[in-house]
Amino acid sequence: MCGIVGYMGHRKAAPLVLKGLQRLEYRGYDSAGMALYENQVVSLYKTQGKVADLAALSNFKDANQSIGMGHTRWATHGVPSDANAHPHSSNSGELTLIHNGIIENYEALKKLLVGKGYVFHSDTDTEVLVNLIEEVQKSHQYQLGKALQVALSQVVGAYAIVVFDTKKTDELVVAKLGSPLAIGMGDHEYFIASDASPFIEYTNKAVYLEDHQLAIIKQDRPPKILSIATDTFTDYYIQELELSLDAIEKGGYKHFMLKEIYEQPRAIKDTYRGRLLVEEGLIKMAGVEEHLDKFLNTKRIIIVACGTSWHAGLVAEYILEDLVRIPVEVEYASEFKYRNPVISNQDVVIAISQSGETADTLAAIKLAKEKGAFVFGVCNVVGSTISRATDAGAYTHAGPEIGVASTKAFTTQITVMSLMALRIAMAKESISVAQFKEIVNELELIPQKVEIALLLNQRILEIAHTYKTKHNCLYLGRGVNFPVALEGALKLKEISYIHAEGYPAAEMKHGPIALIDENMPVIVVAINKGYYDKTVSNIQEIISRKGKIIAIVTEGDTTVKELADHVIEVPETMECFSPLLTTIPLQLLSYHIAVLLNKNVDQPRNLAKSVTVE
Ligand code: GLU
Repeated sequence: MCGIVGYMGHRKAAPLVLKGLQRLEYRGYDSAGMALYENQVVSLYKTQGKVADLAALSNFKDANQSIGMGHTRWATHGVPSDANAHPHSSNSGELTLIHNGIIENYEALKKLLVGKGYVFHSDTDTEVLVNLIEEVQKSHQYQLGKALQVALSQVVGAYAIVVFDTKKTDELVVAKLGSPLAIGMGDHEYFIASDASPFIEYTNKAVYLEDHQLAIIKQDRPPKILSIATDTFTDYYIQELELSLDAIEKGGYKHFMLKEIYEQPRAIKDTYRGRLLVEEGLIKMAGVEEHLDKFLNTKRIIIVACGTSWHAGLVAEYILEDLVRIPVEVEYASEFKYRNPVISNQDVVIAISQSGETADTLAAIKLAKEKGAFVFGVCNVVGSTISRATDAGAYTHAGPEIGVASTKAFTTQITVMSLMALRIAMAKESISVAQFKEIVNELELIPQKVEIALLLNQRILEIAHTYKTKHNCLYLGRGVNFPVALEGALKLKEISYIHAEGYPAAEMKHGPIALIDENMPVIVVAINKGYYDKTVSNIQEIISRKGKIIAIVTEGDTTVKELADHVIEVPETMECFSPLLTTIPLQLLSYHIAVLLNKNVDQPRNLAKSVTVE
């Protein structure tokens, strides 16, 4: 995880690096550091804590250096501390390095280096890497680029790194395997970052480094990109980015999470725009259409994902099976490779990831590809590793999601998966033309209905006041709203640190009911669809045991209204799209409880947004 920023150009590096780190803080925020470089002198600043703590270390506005690098950390090796914060220096002090990722064989390498007399000042794997590069450089008299190439070929793990060498006054060397790295191509200046947000106001031109590539960046010269394995220079493609500065700022909201919750009507609309052609009664999705044969001929679809994306995958399972009549299995990507899964070239694997960088999901993709499956990616970040590692894919057009607790990624993932299901069902004729039309018409109305659900904010704030001091919470749902219960519980855990569990409503009586007493709030999604009566019975069972009910119901509900302690009414919609509405009050409830408890909503403890380690 972690965010890295580098700069070489004609501006002052320090304020630019600090601002860039602030934008990347969603990736990790337990320590931060910066190195500024000029005339063979490196000035190093690092601290445990956030980027704001780093900013307080010095008067960076007065720092004139125009080469710099910075890091915001999510510790993998060694506790968050000043010593473990990046950048790390080599023993001679000549090399300085920042790193996003994990060096898995760092222990063996460290032993080797200690044997050669190297001394370590931190517990990080990163310090091993910088000294390994130094060792290669010194023992072969290599230039930095060559030393990096040789050292990295001995490394097992993942990295995006930036290095400078005091023997070179105008050079940065960067390399990538597994973790993302973008090079912003400015006018007589270069930016390096984990994503484009640190440099978007300076240039919209970026080169995304591929795995096993290394780039040598010098002032006033085009970067040279080298393939580490083949030792050859390669051409590169400069992408024109569409990201806007507004999209990565809070826009008047108190937190990114709240802004992103409110962006959902727009995000859902952007996700179906150009794909859902209601007038023509069509769905257009290039990624699906070019590979329709794969979807039509497969005997099953396997969805791999983690966290919130896994919940979106579970919703998609209901929708795909219902509309397309192909069996769907939803797997935790993190568990997938620890079995010997039965996959063949007949299978379609769909990988879902907001960032497109999730290491566990990438590992699952790799395995599925080795077994010959057709792999389709659903990501939010254009140009991300998953979007490039898959055979085809579809983007969710949610815009940058910065709050660590995912919200609009979830609803846009469900939207993309619904579009896919409809497109395949249309080709397979597994639903009638009339059904198809009815469903696409309803999908078009969803953003409007989400707007209505958002009007519940004030009411949910009141409920949050009542339950903010509870230590446990149960979430129940049935059918397509069971994953919504899981997602609601996850949101509460993530940002308020209240223990919460999601269950299929009917499972309650097989265990969790034992937990119910007057101190247990139970949030029940009880919309007026097929299994409504059964859910009402579950509510009765909870009330009989004095549990407190917060029910999410369909507008106009009367039965649950009489039973529940609190009811939250969302607009009527088709069952398959109900998660897009029922999830909204649950997001708001978690948000308000966390704010009332004074928690850091956008940067909850121990978490990071883009999980680039397995
Ligand atoms: N493995 C490195 C560390 O623990 C980098 C972690 C990161 O990607 O933030 O310092």
